[in-house]
Amino acid sequence: MTAQSPRVAIVGAGPSGLYAANALLGGNEDVRIDILDRLPTPYGLLRYGVAPDHTSMQGIQRVLAEPFASDRVRYFGMVELGSDITADQLRAGYDAVVYAAGASEDRRLDVRGEELPGSRSAREFVAWYCGHPDAEPQPLDGMDTAVTFGVGNVAIDVARILLADAEHLGQTDMPQHVLDELTGHGITDVWVVGRRGPEHATFTTTELRELLNLEGVQPVLHDPVPDDPEDADRRVRQNLAALRDAAERVVEAPRARLNLAFWRRPVELVGASAVRAVVLERTALDGDGRVVGTGEREVVHAQLVLRAIGYRGQPLPGVPFDPEAGVVPNEDGRVVDAAGPRPGEYVVGWIKRGPLGVIGTNKSDAAATVRNLLTDLDSLPGPSGPDAGTLLHERGREPSTYADWERIDAAERASGARYGRPRVKVATWHALFDLVRHGRAGGPLEREGS
Ligand SMILES: Cc1cc2nc3c(=O)[nH]c(=O)nc-3n(C[C@H](O)[C@H](O)[C@H](O)COP(=O)(O)OP(=O)(O)OC[C@H]3O[C@@H](n4cnc5c(N)ncnc54)[C@H](O)[C@@H]3O)c2cc1C
Repeated sequence: MTAQSPRVAIVGAGPSGLYAANALLGGNEDVRIDILDRLPTPYGLLRYGVAPDHTSMQGIQRVLAEPFASDRVRYFGMVELGSDITADQLRAGYDAVVYAAGASEDRRLDVRGEELPGSRSAREFVAWYCGHPDAEPQPLDGMDTAVTFGVGNVAIDVARILLADAEHLGQTDMPQHVLDELTGHGITDVWVVGRRGPEHATFTTTELRELLNLEGVQPVLHDPVPDDPEDADRRVRQNLAALRDAAERVVEAPRARLNLAFWRRPVELVGASAVRAVVLERTALDGDGRVVGTGEREVVHAQLVLRAIGYRGQPLPGVPFDPEAGVVPNEDGRVVDAAGPRPGEYVVGWIKRGPLGVIGTNKSDAAATVRNLLTDLDSLPGPSGPDAGTLLHERGREPSTYADWERIDAAERASGARYGRPRVKVATWHALFDLVRHGRAGGPLEREGS
C-alpha cells in the first residue's frame, strides 16, 4: 500500500454498493471512495425495482445516501464498466475495486412461442413502470388477460400494479406516460401461476395479503389450499392462512379477477403474430421431489405473459464470472478465478450471491466483504495508474456528479408537486441529459444510443 490515502472504486450505486461505501467510511478514516454507475441516478433497484406504490420503502434512500455527505466520496454517474472504463484501468487506479453491479438479466421460460409479442419479462415491465431510461414501452392496449409466471414477490408486484385502481396508482412517482397506460388499460383478469404448490412459494405474507385484498378485485383460487405441512415455517403457515381467507372472500360486482393457479407450468405460448393463449400443464412431484408434467393440459386465453421467474447477473467485462450461478465467483466477497484469489478485487450484493434477499440483506453482506477488504488493505500493491476521474477527464469525458442527481431529484419533486404526487420520475436519457447539462458550462455528455 502507498503512504497516500487508500483509494477504492465501487462499481454500482445500488444498495449493496452504497452499504459497502458506508462500511468503508466507518472502517478506515483515510479511505477515498469513487462510486461509479452507468446511470446519473444512484440507488439501483430501490429506484428501478421496488414497486412505486410501496412508498414507505423510499425512506431507505435517506440511509443509502449517507456516504455522499462525506467529502471522501465522489459519484461518477454515466460511467459504465466495460464501455467507458475497463476493469484493468480500475485495478490500476485503485487499491481495491468492489463490484456491486447487481443482476440485470432475467431467466427465460424456454417454451415455444416465448418470442411472440406480448411475451415479456417482468424485469422489463418493472423497469418500465419504475421509469428506467433503458425501458421499452409496454403497451397494454387491447388486452384483457395477463398471466404472470413465478411465485415470488416480483410476480406479486406486477400483478398488483396491473390490478390496482387509478386512485392508488395516482399517488405514486410513476412517469406520467406509464400512469396513463396503467390507468387506461382493459385488463380484467390477472393470473399468477406457479409450478409448485402455495406451500413452496417464496411470497412474503404482507405482500400476498395486500394483493389478495385489493379493492374491487375478486380472488379466484384454482386449487384447494393444502393443510399446513408439518415442517412449514411461520411464513408458509401465514401464506396458506391468507389464501384460505381469500378463498372465502366474495367481492360484490368486482371490476377484475386475480386468478391463483398452482401446480401448473407453461408448455407453449400460442398466437399467429402475438400471444393469444397460454397452454399450461398440470404438475406434480416425482419420487425425488422434482417437478414433472402430468400430461393434463389447459388453455388460458391471454394477450400478455410476464415471466417473473428470477433475475440473473450479467458478466462484467474483464471480471471473472460463473455463468451457471450468474455471479462473480468469490470467497467471502474476495473475487477468485481458476488461478485463485485476485488481490484487490471484491464483490457485494446480488452479483455476489445471486438475486436473493431484501435491501437490508445487502447491508450485512457488504459489511462482511468490506471487513475482508480492510484486513487485506496493507498487503495490497496500491495504485499504479490514474484514478477514474483523472482518466475520464483526460479523455474529455465528464461523468455526472451527485450534484447532478440532486438536480434531477429536485426536478422530479417539483413536477410531482404540480400533480399532487411525491415526485414524477424523469424516464428518458434525453431528459436526464438535459438536467445534467443544465448545471454545466456545456460539458461533453453524449452517450451512445441516447
Ligand atoms: C422487482 C423488484 C422489487 C423489489 N422490491 C423490494 C422491496 O420491496 N423491498 C426490498 O427490501 N427489496 C426489494 N427488492 C430487492 C432489492 O432491490 C435488492 O436486494 C437490491 O437492489 C440489490 O442491490 P444491488 O446493489 O446488489 O443491485 P442493484 O440494486 O441492481 O444495483 C446495481 C447498480 O449497478 C449499476 N450497474 C450495473 N452494471 C454496471 C456497469 N457495467 N457499470 C456501472 N454500473 C453498473 C446499476 O445501474 C445499478 O445502479 C426488489 C427487487 C426487485 C427486482
